[in-house]
Amino acid sequence: MHDSHIHLALKPLKDNWERDTQEFINMGGKKILTQGTDIEDFNDTFQIAEKINKKFGDIVDIALGIHPTVFQRNFCKNGYDDIFNGSKKFLSHFIKIFEQEKDKLTAIGETGLDYFEMYNSGINDKQIEALKEVQKESFRVHLQLAKTNNLPLSIHARELSGKTDCIKDALSLIAKNGNGLINGSFHSYTGEIPPVSDILDLGFCIGFNAIITYPSGENVREVLKKVPEDKILFETDGPFLTVQSVRRDKKALIKYGRSSQIKEIIRVAAEIKNMSAQKLESIADDNYQRVFG
Ligand SMILES: [Zn+2]
Repeated sequence: MHDSHIHLALKPLKDNWERDTQEFINMGGKKILTQGTDIEDFNDTFQIAEKINKKFGDIVDIALGIHPTVFQRNFCKNGYDDIFNGSKKFLSHFIKIFEQEKDKLTAIGETGLDYFEMYNSGINDKQIEALKEVQKESFRVHLQLAKTNNLPLSIHARELSGKTDCIKDALSLIAKNGNGLINGSFHSYTGEIPPVSDILDLGFCIGFNAIITYPSGENVREVLKKVPEDKILFETDGPFLTVQSVRRDKKALIKYGRSSQIKEIIRVAAEIKNMSAQKLESIADDNYQRVFG
C-alpha cells in the first residue's frame, strides 16, 4: 500500500506524524510520497520526512515543486507587472534550492496548471491571462528539471467543470518539453473523460483519492473505469479529502486525509474495477515502484 500524493508538512499531519505513520504501517503501508508546494514549506517537508524515516525506516519519499496557485496568492496584489517580475524571481529561487537539494528527491511536484481558482477570486481578465502565462512558464521549468535529472512528476491540472483547456495546455507542454522522456502521475484528475486517453498515451499514471468514495464522485469513478490497471496510483492528497466513512462520521472529531485511508480508497476502487482489493493493491504498488521507485 502506498500514498503517492500527500502534504505531510501541513497541519494537522505535521503534528500527528507518529500516530498516522504507525497506523499506515499497521494497515500494510509501505511508501508515502510527500509533496512540497511552495518554497515556504520545503524546510518542513524535509524535516518531517527525516523524522519519519529515522523512526520508521525508509517510508517517506520527497517531491519538491511549486503549486500553480502559488503565483496568484503571492503576486496578484500589486498590479499586473508584479505577476511577471515576482514570479520570475520566485522561480529562479526555486531552481537554486532544487539544485542544492536534488539528491534527496524522488520526484518533482506538486506542479502543473490551475485554471480553476483564478475564476473564483475576483481578479480581472488581464491578470488571468498573465497568471496562465506564468503558470505555463513554471510548468516548463519543472518539466525541464524533470528531463535533465531523470525524475518523475506529480502533476496538478484543475479547471472549471466542462472545460478542457487546462488539461490540453498541460499535455501539450509535456509533449513539447518532455520528448517522451518524462513520466509520473496526474494526481486527482477530476476533469472531462476524453483527455484521459491522451494522458495515458503520454505514458502517465492517474492518481485516485477519496473523491471516488464520495456520492458526488461519479465523474472520477467514470475516469477510473477508463484507466488500465497498470496506470493506477493511489493517493490521499492529505490533509485534504477525508474518505467518505470519516466524512460522514458524526463522532469523528478531527477529519483530515491521511495515508491509512488509502485502504478504503482501494476497497472502493477494487469494486469499480471488479477485482479483489488485494490484487489491485499489489498492482498499484508495482506501479508506484515503476514510476517513483
Ligand atoms: Zn496536493
